[in-house]
Amino acid sequence: MSIRTITDLLASSPAKDWAVGQFNSHNLVMMGAALAAARAERAPVILAVGYQSTKYFSLQALAAAMRVLAEEADVPVAIHLDHARELERVREALDCGFSSVMFDGSALSFEDNVAKTRQVVAMARDAGASVEGEVGVVPQPGAKPGEIGLTDIGQATEFAGLTGVDLLAVSLGSVHGMTEASLAIDQALLEKLGQAIPVPLVLHGASGVTDEAVRQAITKGVRKINVNTALKAAAVRKMREALTARPDTDLLEVMDIGGRAITELAVHKLRVFGASGRA
Ligand SMILES: [Zn+2]
Repeated sequence: MSIRTITDLLASSPAKDWAVGQFNSHNLVMMGAALAAARAERAPVILAVGYQSTKYFSLQALAAAMRVLAEEADVPVAIHLDHARELERVREALDCGFSSVMFDGSALSFEDNVAKTRQVVAMARDAGASVEGEVGVVPQPGAKPGEIGLTDIGQATEFAGLTGVDLLAVSLGSVHGMTEASLAIDQALLEKLGQAIPVPLVLHGASGVTDEAVRQAITKGVRKINVNTALKAAAVRKMREALTARPDTDLLEVMDIGGRAITELAVHKLRVFGASGRA
């Protein structure tokens, strides 16, 4: 099946009672595992890579692998660059066929974030790709209290209008890099953002957010949900168990065990997101 933008994936089932899952897939095993979940659930899906992934493989190699796997899949797939902080990175991704890019200008001043995101939108329009921007800061693990900034409604509304982004990542109290789903998020803030912002909202750091809070967030305007850390943690847990029980387990078998753990969790997430059967 051909590669789609995220806007296309959401348009394929216009009802607003579901969200599309973004599964960060840092290598071929993770990509295959995420797609296996999407195919089993008949769900559209986003395969994403980011700075963590490019520590191990070039963006070009990752893009080629995602493109081929997406074309082989019988469900709609978007391939997305997560958290690009430089325009050069966005250019590189568009040149190698990504159908969607996120520009994360959350560390910049509001004015600089608007200016750079506008440039990204112009570049992506030429390439036929969708764009996600960010207003507010979803903190990285170990962030200092001053770096945690919930999204300001006025700024987010202005940002969406000035930049023309297709999706907007907002900060609602989730944190990147959590291995256990224990956080609730600021549903009252989300409710107001959902009413004020004309584009679909994105929840980052969803590994740390409870299923119940995620379900509520979808009713208030979150249409894309990013999962990264929980997938890695699920794989490591199962691989550790396998190696503890049988230390001479073959590498390929160990990786397959990790992949199957990712598929199992991704299936669960797709069901929580209401994404099953939307393809
Ligand atoms: Zn993120």
